Amino acid sequence: MERTLVFLKPDAVRRRLLGRIIARFEDKGFNILGMKMLALDEQYVREHYGAHEGKEFYEPLVRYVTSGPVVAMVLEGKSAVRVVRDMMGQTFGSDSPPGTIRGDMALSNRFNLVHGSDSPRAAREEIERFFDAEELCTYPAEATRWIYDQSGDEIV
Ligand code: UDP
Ligand code: MG
Repeated sequence: MERTLVFLKPDAVRRRLLGRIIARFEDKGFNILGMKMLALDEQYVREHYGAHEGKEFYEPLVRYVTSGPVVAMVLEGKSAVRVVRDMMGQTFGSDSPPGTIRGDMALSNRFNLVHGSDSPRAAREEIERFFDAEELCTYPAEATRWIYDQSGDEIV
């Protein structure tokens, strides 16, 4: 089963939207393997968003993500990386379709509530950067018995 790294950005905390956003991921059927609130230090954020260094939004982005605590979590489920990205919507709230997190709760082209890894490889790196192995739980198959068909060799 695939894992992805999500963090709810400082605007999600300040706007008191944590519960509603986390509920969407729970409703979908993801297992939450780890979760913590933390203030990300600047160097950490610069590394996390290293691919955007030099772009005009890079410095404002660093200020945004370091402006208050975030809530980081590891989600596990089928095609977790893509499914979470689809649930998030587009980068800009103003472009995001209704039904997505950003489409339903964000209008800004910067303050967009949520980060989700954009590839399985990024997910592995980001999970390692945010969590120690002992901070993550495992779930028994029973926990997802009615989320997936697990009666055969494959989880469908
Ligand atoms: N961002 C911004 N202006 C832009 C593009 C991105 O302020 O023109 C911010 C926005 O908060 C976004 C983050 O930078 O979530 C990272 O950008 P990315 O392209 O990775 O978007 P995401 O993967 O979050 O959709
Ligand atoms: Mg991104």
